[in-house]
Amino acid sequence: MEAKARVSVSPYIAEQMERARRVLKEVFGFESFRPMQEQVIEAVLAGQDVLLLMPTGGGKSLCYQIPSIVREGVGVVVSPLISLMKDQVDALVANGVRAAYYNSTLKAAQAREVIARLQAGDLDLLYIAPERLLTKKFIEILKGVKIALFAVDEAHCVSQWGHDFRPDYAELGRLREEFPDVPMIALTATADEHTRRDIVERLRMPDAQWFVASFDRPNIRYLVSEKRQPLTQILQFLEGWKGASGIIYCMSKKRVDELAVNLQRHGIAAAPYHAGMPARVRERVQDDFLRDRVKVMVATIAFGMGVDKPNIRFVIHHDLPKSIESYYQETGRAGRDGLEAEALLLYGPSDVNLVRRLIDNVENPEQRRVEIHKLNAMVGFAEALTCRRRVLLGYFGEELEQDCGNCDICLDPPETYDAREYAELALACVEELGGRYGIGYVVDVLRGANTALVRERGHTEAKTFGAGKDISADEWTSILRQLVHRGYFLQDIAERGALKPTRKAERIRAGEPVILARHRHRIRRLARLTAQRDEALYAKLDELRHKIADEEDLAPHIVFSDVALTEMSQKKPTTLEELGKISGVSKVKLATYGERFLAVIREHVAEQPEEPASDEVPQLIAKGPPANEVQLFTYQLYKQGKTPDEIAEIQGVSRETVIRHFVSLVRAGHYIDVPAYFGENYQTLMTEMDEADPYASLVEIKNGLSVPLTNEEFRLLVAWREAIGIA
Ligand code: ADP
Ligand code: ZN
Repeated sequence: MEAKARVSVSPYIAEQMERARRVLKEVFGFESFRPMQEQVIEAVLAGQDVLLLMPTGGGKSLCYQIPSIVREGVGVVVSPLISLMKDQVDALVANGVRAAYYNSTLKAAQAREVIARLQAGDLDLLYIAPERLLTKKFIEILKGVKIALFAVDEAHCVSQWGHDFRPDYAELGRLREEFPDVPMIALTATADEHTRRDIVERLRMPDAQWFVASFDRPNIRYLVSEKRQPLTQILQFLEGWKGASGIIYCMSKKRVDELAVNLQRHGIAAAPYHAGMPARVRERVQDDFLRDRVKVMVATIAFGMGVDKPNIRFVIHHDLPKSIESYYQETGRAGRDGLEAEALLLYGPSDVNLVRRLIDNVENPEQRRVEIHKLNAMVGFAEALTCRRRVLLGYFGEELEQDCGNCDICLDPPETYDAREYAELALACVEELGGRYGIGYVVDVLRGANTALVRERGHTEAKTFGAGKDISADEWTSILRQLVHRGYFLQDIAERGALKPTRKAERIRAGEPVILARHRHRIRRLARLTAQRDEALYAKLDELRHKIADEEDLAPHIVFSDVALTEMSQKKPTTLEELGKISGVSKVKLATYGERFLAVIREHVAEQPEEPASDEVPQLIAKGPPANEVQLFTYQLYKQGKTPDEIAEIQGVSRETVIRHFVSLVRAGHYIDVPAYFGENYQTLMTEMDEADPYASLVEIKNGLSVPLTNEEFRLLVAWREAIGIA
């Protein structure tokens, strides 16, 4: 998905964009814009209305903050959540921006001061709740000041289709009447089409430019594990995230309380959160979480909206969410800062029945159907044998160009095979049934199930009835789900998930191979990532950050983000100038906190022995794309002297996968000592490769070698030869 055509750039806008880039660097301390931020800012600076759809963590805030600073006048930001306003304003003020909020938490004197600053032109940004903004008195005040723009955050709240309708929001269209010339930017992370249309209509911005970002969250690693002993599994998982913040979602209040107590017993700083707790207690717990006093929040879905904590490192679903939308939204709270994060779903098929029972209580039959369908899609995700990210984004109509490399399936791929014959059979059956039935029924017919329904519909007479008896119903279900994920069939929501062949199904008819994953039952080990940082230094910097946060009564991430601390621990800057180049270190923060952080870094560096100079290693020619995070982690372990088997153990993947990482690393130009890997066979192999028939296929060459190699090893050898420039 991409933005519509750019507006043509006048010299005036070009100059404003120059200023925008300077603000990005000096005020926010960032080197470059994220994808789409630049176009959006340009459009707003040009006075256009904008609808921006971008996932959580995508960087929406800068899209109105920077134009508010650059344009003359104040940017008025409508935000539904009071807790968020304070956090955003704290963060802006820490960077030296003239920002304030105006809501019911202010005392009368404070409120008067904000209005005075507004009228004096002393504010770049004003955050305000909609009901306050729309009072007659406030509109009058605004008429008397210069307004740079209106930003409507969480804009889906204007729509009854959205999951969080707020009547006050629906009134915001009045702004357009009162202030016809002020540009308006509406922002949301909600993907669905209905809501989008509603937003532009309700806010009366029919000519708004739409910007739709990809909804992928590449830094979130998706993991699904069969639910066996959840407490043990969760404790194991938390081992790998010591001291990190995370959320564990459970279906019921009772389970939340139980799990929180159990985790506390194991020494984890966990706290429960659900709607059954008094509001005061909930607020306190949430604040403790924001300030890192509570690390693990065990919660029902009541928790999350309005929690703008950038460094949530993991989200665990103890129970199955009821839809992919909820799952996406809940897991999306992890890793807003762009650093690695993990989403773990514990999946037990019995959960499905539990959710079904809940849905059975829904009165409206239409709504019940929709919810069942959504649940089925969620189950499809949990049971997928193809890249999870593909399934997830596919659900929102977005297609990935290649498998993601950062989900449990990609990291430890299931075995694959050519399922061409099964696919043909499936297609024949679906067509024979007129494309009117869902997966379960198609499986029944294929397996020759003698049920009342099948008999009643006369399908015992179908040609394909019982034609797929030789494999189990589980396997058939898996095959059909994969055919859907791979785009051969689509499931029609409006028709109870009826399977319909797509245009791609022609390829099945043409006899092309259909590569599917084999169904598997075994439990996967949980793979784990570790940020590549100097942990000892990071801990010291983190301590200082907390100390300052306490002194100034701020959330720790407002002082410096995890991103900034991580980069400091890696680059170890020792001068103010070097420190200023770290992402998120703005001018003001450099001046305010710079020296204190430098002191910690300098002391740490002085204590550490010099790193031995790296040995002279041959330069490899990069022939492939840059290595991804997972592969780089393998590389880091490799450089620590770990063997492939040890790396496999630590990463929680197979040895084969590690060798595949090696291939990608070599192709990306990273040095892996391949001669040492093949040891005494290396020379023989190289000679045989040199002498191979130049017209032979790679398979033929491989089979002609006197040393048997696995496919991965052979690919490693080929990649190596290319990288040293002899092939
Ligand atoms: P959203 O509102 O879309 O959820 P935010 O505006 O909160 O996202 O931004 C998410 C994170 O990304 C924040 O920590 C922010 O500081 C960071 N960020 C945003 N834009 C950039 C950028 N251009 N460079 C580096 N970090 C950025
Ligand atoms: Zn994947």
